[in-house]
Amino acid sequence: MTTARFAPSPTGRLHVGNIRTALHNWMLAKRAGGSFILRIDDTDAQRSREEFVDAIREDLAWLGLDWDREERQSQRLDRYEAAFDALRAAGRIYPAYETAQELELKRKIQLGRGLPPVYDRAALSLTDDERAAKEAEGIVPHWRFRLDHDEPITWEDGIRGTQKFDPALLSDPVIRRADGSWLYMLPSTVDDIDMGVTQVLRGEDHVSNTAVQIQMFTALHAAEFAAQHDAAKNVPDFAHEALLVSKEGKLSKRLGSLGCDAFRERGIEPEAIIALLARLGTSLPVEPVADRAALMESFDLTTFGRAPAKFDEAELDRINTAIVHQMPFDAVKERLPAGMDETGWHAVRPNVKTVAEAEEWWRLVTGPIDRPAFLDEDRAYLAEAARTLEWGDDPWGALTSALKEATGRKGKALFLPLRQALTGMDHGPDMGELLPLIGEDEARARLELAAGA
Ligand code: GLU
Repeated sequence: MTTARFAPSPTGRLHVGNIRTALHNWMLAKRAGGSFILRIDDTDAQRSREEFVDAIREDLAWLGLDWDREERQSQRLDRYEAAFDALRAAGRIYPAYETAQELELKRKIQLGRGLPPVYDRAALSLTDDERAAKEAEGIVPHWRFRLDHDEPITWEDGIRGTQKFDPALLSDPVIRRADGSWLYMLPSTVDDIDMGVTQVLRGEDHVSNTAVQIQMFTALHAAEFAAQHDAAKNVPDFAHEALLVSKEGKLSKRLGSLGCDAFRERGIEPEAIIALLARLGTSLPVEPVADRAALMESFDLTTFGRAPAKFDEAELDRINTAIVHQMPFDAVKERLPAGMDETGWHAVRPNVKTVAEAEEWWRLVTGPIDRPAFLDEDRAYLAEAARTLEWGDDPWGALTSALKEATGRKGKALFLPLRQALTGMDHGPDMGELLPLIGEDEARARLELAAGA
């Protein structure tokens, strides 16, 4: 079964880049009838906060990205310990004693000589005595995973095609700090094995992590770490998507802080975000598709490009407006002003950019309205309109044709004073739809008031 996961660290709210990764994994899983896991990467006890875990759940729920299973790394520490023991027994983990300053100095020297800043494995060649001496000095080691340098690491990336890494050009990653806490690399691999993850789709900033993790998968399998379920014996399929950048092409701070709360406040609908993010950076056209099944149908990793995907807030606004114009009454009714029914929504819908704006137009129906001052000739015209008004199936059509006939007015001279008298505005929703909502008595009263004003 296809199993994908979204693995945010609860150190902040989801931003648009995370939302995109969540959506794509959700689509991969759901499209295949598979399972979508929400994995909370909270091994960093200091930076992880419960309020962000709640916010992540809320945001995903608001977006309609439902998960089949939730996992938390903080509750799986015994599994990481077991993996650590297995890899250590297999000689794939070793203690290292350098301080952060020492490592930084080594890096500077390498860079100064024009060499790649790869960890020199000094700790690997320590003798037992040397190690014992360090520990006697009270130096507590951190732990590195020993990469196998024998052959290149390759995989078929779902977006980037064949990938090939020379492991000798990668540093043996630190997987555990001196205080025993875990860095991202090993827990994530252990989880992907235990949870039977078959697809890992993430940002291209993880490409070199994947090279390392592929060796971890193989090492853990060789150590019979996941012997209890064969399905987990495979290395997942990996795909790395180009990062999301601002429309100017930059990795921007703003994008890093733009999340569901800001979108919601601005009246952006989840479906607009989904429609945009499902196709941004792909060869498919970005369109205001409100039907998620249709988006899912066309979702295909082979359409993803290698160039950074450009996120433009103005494009989101445009898609949002087009989506709002398609939204059925049932989808918005809880958010409409009191008393506004389906006919009311349909009347104002083409004039709003957000659902919240329905309120402004609805005030034209419920009143009170502001009325502009009219010229004498228009006042006479409006008095005639008040007398002419007759209530039938199409009161606006009947009123305007009768007035056209009787006064010879046409175009703006015919329509504008009526609209202004009836709504206080010189533009707005279709009067044919609005007038029945205003109602006969109120409409006549407004015309009479305007005529007398
Ligand atoms: N917590 C990691 C991150 O947010 C997860 C990366 C992954 O998908 O493996 O970058």
